[in-house]
Amino acid sequence: MAAATRSRKRDDFYRDRRRRKVCTFCADKTVHIDYKEVNRLRRYLSERAKIEPRRKTGTCAHHQRELSVALKRARHVALLPYAPQHLRP
Ligand SMILES: [Zn+2]
Repeated sequence: MAAATRSRKRDDFYRDRRRRKVCTFCADKTVHIDYKEVNRLRRYLSERAKIEPRRKTGTCAHHQRELSVALKRARHVALLPYAPQHLRP
């Protein structure tokens, strides 16, 4: 009863979240993702410095592709971490 209610609420929460999720880059009409925008890109890395999947961030296929390239460029020039060990100086 209580558990059932809670799980239904959680399902609704996820359903709502999925429906509302919009690619932030499309919303901003971003044509090209700049690897130097570190503060923006940082949101797309997980706590373990991994690139977050589309299902979690809602980024569209086109922008996710651009994003992954931008993140990798940022890593290459040491603006973003490759691994969690790099997060702590
Ligand atoms: Zn997009």
